[in-house]
Amino acid sequence: MMKRVLITGAAGFLGSHLCDRFVNDGFHVIGMDNLITGRMKNLEHLVKHSNFEFHHHDVSKHIHIPGELDYILHFASPASPIDYLKIPIQTLKVGSLGIHNCLGLARVKKARVLIASTSEVYGDPNVHPQPESYWGNVNPVGPRGVYDEAKRFQEAMTMAYHTFHGVETRIVRIFNTYGPRMRLNDGRVLPAFIGQALRGEDLTVFGDGSQTRSFCYVDDLVEGIVRLLKSDYEQPVNIGNPSEISIAQFAEEIIELTGTEQKVIYKDLPVDDPKQRRPDITLVKKILDWEPKVTRQAGLKITYEYFKSLSKEELYEKEHMNFDKYIVR
Ligand code: UDP
Repeated sequence: MMKRVLITGAAGFLGSHLCDRFVNDGFHVIGMDNLITGRMKNLEHLVKHSNFEFHHHDVSKHIHIPGELDYILHFASPASPIDYLKIPIQTLKVGSLGIHNCLGLARVKKARVLIASTSEVYGDPNVHPQPESYWGNVNPVGPRGVYDEAKRFQEAMTMAYHTFHGVETRIVRIFNTYGPRMRLNDGRVLPAFIGQALRGEDLTVFGDGSQTRSFCYVDDLVEGIVRLLKSDYEQPVNIGNPSEISIAQFAEEIIELTGTEQKVIYKDLPVDDPKQRRPDITLVKKILDWEPKVTRQAGLKITYEYFKSLSKEELYEKEHMNFDKYIVR
């Protein structure tokens, strides 16, 4: 019998790459998305595939899936600081009501659940690099609180279903990831810089650019997620690339990659913007024998080719998000 997997957030950046991977691995994939931040374009090559079906549904509402399910991967959520500032309530709901529905479904179907958590659970970290044992430094009422606390709640709820209902659960803490299908205008630094270079605009570095991030190519992340799902490890696991770079240096790399003649301009640093971030990947190396394979140079090249292939309309489109339809009243 073909194994069946439900992937929430299927039309998003990570969700769509996971759909590809599971279809290629011979699964029947049920992709679910409410299309607030996700886009059908990311799935158009899959919709006619006999092993793929798409359900347009908001996972914050009761989820009904006929038939059996082996795995549920909960990847639905706005994930960029700009997105979750625009739709804070949906962000909180998908991390709380959404995970509750996924876990309830998993319990009924006896499916294993893997949830997408995040390095944001560490907040603006006082420990560097961040191991899984670090509890974090999060401002619950700051602008990032809606995302950070939703993800922290999601982890707590997942462990509770595991402990009290015996649901098989896996938790991945994802660090900054990049690759084709990121939204050009989602506000994150990589699409922001590449979009600016392609439009002939200056690159906007926030603050003095000394804050650091560590960028992982999407294929590496997906491989780590598949290994974690198949493992028997039930505590949270960091997956990310420990190669750390300051945002100012990163802007220089994008200038070199794109050959743009634009310069860097400096803007105010957003509130609660983490000063440094790098995953400690000791655990994932040990338990899953995983480490990133794609260098930033190689990954950025592939990603740049993707952004270059977008149409002029897409390049100049100001807003991809369909959130007007979903405004909470
Ligand atoms: N950033 C920047 N210019 C931009 C967009 C982002 O300098 O046009 C900075 C941002 O302040 C942060 C870093 O780049 O320090 C990464 O931001 P991103 O939104 O990609 O992710 P996160 O802060 O969630 O890691």
